[in-house]
Amino acid sequence: MSVHLSDRITNMSTSATLAMAAKARELRNEGKDIIGLSLGEPDFNIPDFIKEAAKEAIDQNYRSYTPVDGYADLKKAISLKFERDNGLTYGANQIVVSTGAKQSLFNVAMVALNPGDEVILPAPYWVSYSDIVKLAEGVPVEVSTSIETDFKMTAAQLEAAITPKTKMLWFSSPCNPSGSVYSAEELESLAGVLRKHPEIIVVSDEIYEHINFAGGHVSIANIEGMYDRTVTVNGVSKAFAMTGWRIGYIGAPEWIAKGCTKLQGQVTSGANAIAQRAVIAALEAPKSKIQYMIDEFQQRRELVLQLLGEIEGFKLNVPEGAFYVFPDISTFFGKTFRGVTINNASDFALYLLEHANVATVTGEAFGNPDCIRISYAASEESLKEAISRISAALS
Ligand code: PMP
Ligand code: GLU
Repeated sequence: MSVHLSDRITNMSTSATLAMAAKARELRNEGKDIIGLSLGEPDFNIPDFIKEAAKEAIDQNYRSYTPVDGYADLKKAISLKFERDNGLTYGANQIVVSTGAKQSLFNVAMVALNPGDEVILPAPYWVSYSDIVKLAEGVPVEVSTSIETDFKMTAAQLEAAITPKTKMLWFSSPCNPSGSVYSAEELESLAGVLRKHPEIIVVSDEIYEHINFAGGHVSIANIEGMYDRTVTVNGVSKAFAMTGWRIGYIGAPEWIAKGCTKLQGQVTSGANAIAQRAVIAALEAPKSKIQYMIDEFQQRRELVLQLLGEIEGFKLNVPEGAFYVFPDISTFFGKTFRGVTINNASDFALYLLEHANVATVTGEAFGNPDCIRISYAASEESLKEAISRISAALS
């Protein structure tokens, strides 16, 4: 039988983060000693109090289809979380629980974009943004930033990227992959531009909210003129180490929330029952219950910055949040080793995989071809070993 994938899927890129993780797994199965620093996944166990809530939910026979937009008491817990952590008031009709923040983002694109609508993506951006936008027949418009501006988009850059077709702005703060955190002043200056364009919807991906070493987290929805057109995206994968339990959520204008619920009703139905019950416990807990993970990430950041800083040719910013470093490695371009020339960041990441047995992700997948992403969601021992191998392979 001839194989005819749809144009939609043929034209879509494979997720580079997941592809690199799969490649590392494959090489490991072949017996290679690969250190995986490609996937943004906390290496902690899920805290016991959350696991207990899940066990109780199983014993209480939570088994049926769940409400498409999430259990009412989970939405209440989300609403209280938004009030407590972000000073945002979202009612039940503005909250939708999904199978991961990835689905939340996909929903929003499908619900609010028409073919040809432009979406501004400050680059580097999280790997899936541009393909999600394209799947919804939107047009990603990348705004390049560099290490010199700490990978943050300025108000002038935003203004210059806006056209009559601009429908949305998507960004993450703390940012995956750069770790940059937009300050209140920086968000205010972006909002200053957006206030002149009330038709632009803002998608604020705050999934790394708690993994922030810089101080307070600011939600753009809290800035004057932004609330009515901002979708605040969050989830439990990062702060609670619950990646495989697949729960994300949005707080949004009611019309967007309604659209997302309608879409989910035809695609996945409500998210997993047991995971939702566990997330109530996660969100109701004070931040002090997860502080040990954040402290550990911060220690690892210091270690990684120090060790990578000793490698000649690595240009680093100081990431203020998330658990990635995004070094500019463009000084290596054009260099040849054993007949293989490193022409770009993808070649560089491949070189590290083959000659250092360390998996990273090319910056090209995040819209920045001069960098690679290294996740430090790994033990100190693995990080030390990985960086020593990288150093040896590059010397
Ligand atoms: N946004 C960003 C910035 C991310 O790094 C991730 C990574 N998982 C997601 C969204 C999706 O998270 P989830 O596991 O909730 O789908
Ligand atoms: N968000 C994580 C990352 O960027 C997990 C992988 C994914 O969902 O793509 O690596």
